[in-house]
Amino acid sequence: MSRKLVVGNWKMHGSRAQVGELLEALKAGSARAQGVGVAVCPPFPYLAQAVGLLAGTDIGVGAQNLAVETAGAYTGEVSGEMLADVGCRYVIVGHSERRTLYGEDSALVARKYKAATEQGLVPILCVGEQLSEREAGTTEQVVAAQLDAVLDLCGEAALASALIAYEPVWAIGTGKVATPEQAQAVHAFIRGRVARGADTPTLLYGGSVKPDNAAGLFVQQDVDGGLIGGASLDADHFLAICEAARS
Ligand code: PEP
Repeated sequence: MSRKLVVGNWKMHGSRAQVGELLEALKAGSARAQGVGVAVCPPFPYLAQAVGLLAGTDIGVGAQNLAVETAGAYTGEVSGEMLADVGCRYVIVGHSERRTLYGEDSALVARKYKAATEQGLVPILCVGEQLSEREAGTTEQVVAAQLDAVLDLCGEAALASALIAYEPVWAIGTGKVATPEQAQAVHAFIRGRVARGADTPTLLYGGSVKPDNAAGLFVQQDVDGGLIGGASLDADHFLAICEAARS
């Protein structure tokens, strides 16, 4: 795959003013990301603002979560239909913070994945192991089980050309990045498990990607881009990571 994709996961950060500032800076610096697919995932209240500010640009907008249901008496939930309606292209599903802090298991993540595709959204499926699982040598089993939940519910074709983020949980927000070799090994495993013929997934690495480590990760054969948390809140850092994805 030649064109890399860099996605910013803003988590629960921002205000109207900060969203405006950050997106104006990304637009002003867009030449640094030329040839790279770019998207940002702001919190729900700022999605429509982001879609408006990014209209006419190549920067896509995604949400960080969605409900399984389409509409109804589900207080506090936001459906994929609503996300599509306000102009989202992407939605993150199965982020480790949703899995660990909000008890989302792989079966629920698979239902969210299905709901997203049914609404025409592109799900970004996050998978990854805990530190104890890596140390126990079970990384591949853990990632395989997370993938299998989606394959079982949605079928093989659903993941063959999907957008999947490998995010080792021990590397998220910790400053401990996986080595390029560790990332490459798991990406190759994921590709081998879900690719079907000419259909192959786009594989993002996520976990403490910063301007100074991005190039080493992106140069790996099976790393097609990145899912960026903390560093996506700083326009200069995020653009520097996009720049690293160009080479
Ligand atoms: C993330 O939240 O998806 C993430 C990768 O965070 P960070 O880059 O801050 O580790």
